[in-house]
Amino acid sequence: MRNKRFIAGATCPQCKLLDKIFVYLDSDDAGQDIKWRACASCDFSEPFDADAITPPAEILTRVNQNRVGEQPLAHEVAVEAVKLIDPKNN
Ligand SMILES: [Zn+2]
Repeated sequence: MRNKRFIAGATCPQCKLLDKIFVYLDSDDAGQDIKWRACASCDFSEPFDADAITPPAEILTRVNQNRVGEQPLAHEVAVEAVKLIDPKNN
């Protein structure tokens, strides 16, 4: 068990106690680091993927508006001001 660190504000999913969850690094059989989280109060312990708790990337539904500075997707048309042209003036 290496790099043991408590996670402030985390609640144990098993015993529901606050501030008892800590993460640590361990090595698997291949020598790869595995992050675990465990509870100091009960026997809760599970592999813990830090990526799993980061907020998910932008939800894949988009409104029909591009953001400033954002490139349109392949199926989208860049937002432009549309000038209506009176054909009689041509
Ligand atoms: Zn616990």
